[in-house]
Order: sequence, then C-alpha cells, then structure tokens
Amino acid sequence: MDDTALAGRRGRVQAAAVAAGVDAVLVTPGPDLRYLTGYDATPLERLTCLLLPAQGSPLLVVPELEQPAAVATVGTDLAILPWSETDDPVDLCIRHLGGRVGRVAVDDRMWAEKVLRFRDALPGSTILAAGGLLTDQRMRKDAAEVENLALAGAAIDEVHSRMGEWLRPGRTEREVALAIERAILASGHDRVDFVIVASGPNGASPHHAPSRRIITPGDTVVVDIGGTMPSGYCSDSTRTYAVGRPSAAALEQYEVLMNAQQRAIEAVRPGVSAESVDAAARDVIDAAGLGHLFVHRTGHGIGVETHEHPYIVTGNRQVLEAGMAFSVEPGIYDPGRHGARIEDIVVVTDSGRRRLNNRPHELVVL
Ligand code: ZN
Ligand code: ZN
Ligand code: ZN
Repeated sequence: MDDTALAGRRGRVQAAAVAAGVDAVLVTPGPDLRYLTGYDATPLERLTCLLLPAQGSPLLVVPELEQPAAVATVGTDLAILPWSETDDPVDLCIRHLGGRVGRVAVDDRMWAEKVLRFRDALPGSTILAAGGLLTDQRMRKDAAEVENLALAGAAIDEVHSRMGEWLRPGRTEREVALAIERAILASGHDRVDFVIVASGPNGASPHHAPSRRIITPGDTVVVDIGGTMPSGYCSDSTRTYAVGRPSAAALEQYEVLMNAQQRAIEAVRPGVSAESVDAAARDVIDAAGLGHLFVHRTGHGIGVETHEHPYIVTGNRQVLEAGMAFSVEPGIYDPGRHGARIEDIVVVTDSGRRRLNNRPHELVVL
C-alpha cells in the first residue's frame, strides 16, 4: 500500500468528520486501522489508537513495545507517539487532541472497555460510532483495491479447484477442513479466516462448524472458505459438491439455486439498488416454492473485512456504484436433509459487473 494512497484515505475521513460536525475520529486495531495506515496491529489490552482530528495532523499512539512493529509498516508521513508501560494512554490521546473534542467518533469495532475509558475521560463529550465516516469510503474501491480483491478471488478459486483431493467418503469434515486450511495458506493467503465444510444434513446450517461427521456417498457438501491476502484484502467463495450421486430432491433444489445465483449476478450494474440484487435471487427461489428455505440475505460487501457494506438485503436502497464489491450467495437449506450455496464475489463496473470468482457453478460430483 503506497503512503500517498493511505494519506489520501486519512484525509477523506478527516473531511467527512468536518462535514459531520465530528471533532476527532479514534481508530483502534482492526480493519479500519489497517485501511487507514497499513498497520495490521493485533487488538490488545494496551491501547493502540490512531487519532484523526477533524483539523490537524493524524497521530498514531502505540505502546512502546509495539513501536518497532508500527514503524515497520506505517509510512514515514504518519507520526507515531509511543507511551511507556506506566503512562495513561487515554490521557495522552486526549491531551494531543487539544481539548476540542465535543463530538468524538470511535471505530465501529473498538472494544467496549476502551470506548468506556474514553467516555469516562471525556465527560461532556458525545461519543458516537464512526459508521459512515469510514464505511462510505471503504465500500467504494479504487482500481488497486479491485485488483487486490481479484488476486484474493483467484487464490481461493485455486483452493476450490483442488477439492477432489480432500473431499472423499470416509473422511470427517474436520479432516477435510484441515487440508483446506493448509491449501488456503499455500495459495498465497496470509491467514485463514474461516472454513465451512457442511456435509449431508449439516449443509442445512449456513454457518456450520466442521464436525466429526464422516462424509458418506450421496452427501452434498457445502464448502465456504476465505482468507486474508498479504494486501489485507479478503476472499470468500462457496461451492457445493456432491460425493457420489445425491438425491433427486437435492439435485432439483440445486438447479433452482444455480439459476437464482446467475440471475442475481446478471442484475448487478451501476444505478440499481442493493435490494434489487437480493430480489433477483429471491424471486427465482420463491417461484420454485422454496423461499422459506432461503434464510439469509443474498450477500455482503467485502474488502479489508469479509463482511462490510454494502449489504445485499431487502430494505437496503443503497444505489450500486462502480467499485463496489460484494458477494452474491443465495442458499437453499432443507433442515434435516441437505443444503446448498453458491457464492461469488463481484465488483460493479461502469457498465455491469466483473466476477472475481470463476469456478464452474454446476454441482461438482466427486
Ligand atoms: Zn456467511
Ligand atoms: Zn460471504
Ligand atoms: Zn462465504
């Protein structure tokens, strides 16, 4: 991430703060901090906090022992202020904000313990969640971010392409998940964010955790996997596999699902609402009489976080713009029997959409 781009992001958050009448934005370790500084700090009890005054220079406050790690990743144009073990870092932050802090926005993922410490130290100030000050910018990706998401997509596609190596009758979901985790790292990801291997009836639980269930012939298996690339950008893709010949009902539902996912992807273009993409998928599943089995929204934005704005859900009138990236992942979950989901990341282009996952959609029979 080049320093100018990061400084530009910080400047835009500061401008948004001015427009919103916010005096300072405080950002602790998490996706917002990484987005604004490049620093992938671990959230800890010791305070690391980026101070973004509405006016003036940003400052990164870090525990002294974290200073070398911060210096190694943060560009030279961002000042770093270390605090030593016996200092009061909250007090230090407030002194550096110079008292003009009537309204303070904190990042949406800040730990409650830290929010409350700031609140106690700032009687009379209003503390609010940063929300749109960050999300409005984060959901509009520039060309470099889209390329990073495309690399993430290609890497996770490579893992899906190898599924036949691991998904075999007689293995447990956990054994398959472990092999997938290794492959996610081998494909170029820095870390594994999640691995869902949901076989047979477990497929009806959208966020099933891999269990000791043994995969048996005739199972359909939902495999939803993702990780974070060295760039900080995330992957997330689902395919449903069949180990041997699945039931007629599973095959029938899968045909409906494939059609729904395709229709939703085709609905993506600039100028339409997020909810219209959800409706495109839902209409197909409803028409097949399976609407009650599609129990979640159609998708979520993705970037330096796996789930972020815009959410592809009924009620979200957000107009899609070029550069918005999100998943299209309808599912059909038949309790006690089986489930299926197909998920691709797409990015809105000037004229339509670009797919960042490109594995075939047909049920892959292994
Ligand atoms: Zn999910
Ligand atoms: Zn997803
Ligand atoms: Zn997923």
